[in-house]
Amino acid sequence: MESQKQHPQQFSLEFFPPKGEEGQAKLNETRIQLAKLKPRYASVTFGAGGSTQAGTVETVRQMLAAGLDTAPHLSCIGSNENDILQLLHGYMEMGVTRIVALRGDMPSGMRETGAFQYANELVAFIRSQTGDHFHIEVAAYPEFHPQAPSAEADLDNFARKVDAGANAAITQYFYNLDAYLRFVEECEKRGVEIPIVPGIMPITNIKQLARFSAMCGAEIPRWLRLRLEAYGEDLRSLKAFGLDVTTELCRNLLEAGAPGLHFYTMNQIEPTRIVWANLGLQGNV
Ligand code: FAD
Repeated sequence: MESQKQHPQQFSLEFFPPKGEEGQAKLNETRIQLAKLKPRYASVTFGAGGSTQAGTVETVRQMLAAGLDTAPHLSCIGSNENDILQLLHGYMEMGVTRIVALRGDMPSGMRETGAFQYANELVAFIRSQTGDHFHIEVAAYPEFHPQAPSAEADLDNFARKVDAGANAAITQYFYNLDAYLRFVEECEKRGVEIPIVPGIMPITNIKQLARFSAMCGAEIPRWLRLRLEAYGEDLRSLKAFGLDVTTELCRNLLEAGAPGLHFYTMNQIEPTRIVWANLGLQGNV
């Protein structure tokens, strides 16, 4: 973990573009409340293939107007160079200086991959078109990407994104501390020393978590799944236990030298606020 300890710890929050008036009102309140934590920046997800792309731009605009340093996610699958360039120029005009560069997943029904096959190509394209304007974050998978042919290949592919010009990485969420520590160690062996910030999914709901985890390849350890399932309909106790487990994971990560935490807020106030308070985080002061 030596490579990680050299970086200052940064704490950031992720949001998704809301749907409808109710979703917008909820996000407005969440943004107001979580801005008080003074995160280093907020990031806003982006749907591949057009589903929430306009929503991302609008949400980024709102976050910036509220005084939050904001990083749009940008996924490239299904896009051509011109689409990406237009978004990049639009973001530069808005004052955006950070971007989370991703491949994304092909929406069902879409066949053309477009100009970019993998995220390393997007990172190289952003650098070639905009130089050092953007601080580029990429995705990392301590438990490995579900489509990777092997752990080794996935690590090599992660290193390609760094070679292409990524400044930092945010991980897929995970509940196995060792997976993260080993991943960082393997990166160090490849000479990769950028900050690899753990992505944190606060546990509040077992059904939703199980569904997400099956899709993205994040493991819910057996002991944890059984404990969560045992709460049945007692969602209050499940949430209290889940947030304790999340806090403990974060504490262990920070003690091991992780360069911060990136919270998947799911546009909710309480889970992130509780874990943040449990950890005594000061935010970006
Ligand atoms: P890549 O780094 O391109 O990797 C994808 C797969 O291809 C891996 O298996 C890798 O091993 C392999 N690979 C990579 N490069 C090569 C290469 N050169 N040659 C051969 N194989 C290669 N999705 C969204 O649609 N919108 C979002 O806003 C979003 N935000 C995310 C934020 C974070 C922090 C994370 C961790 C994921 C996010 N995702 C998002 C999901 C992400 O788009 C998917 O996990 C997607 O399947 C992979 O994206 P990637 O950028 O990691 O792809």
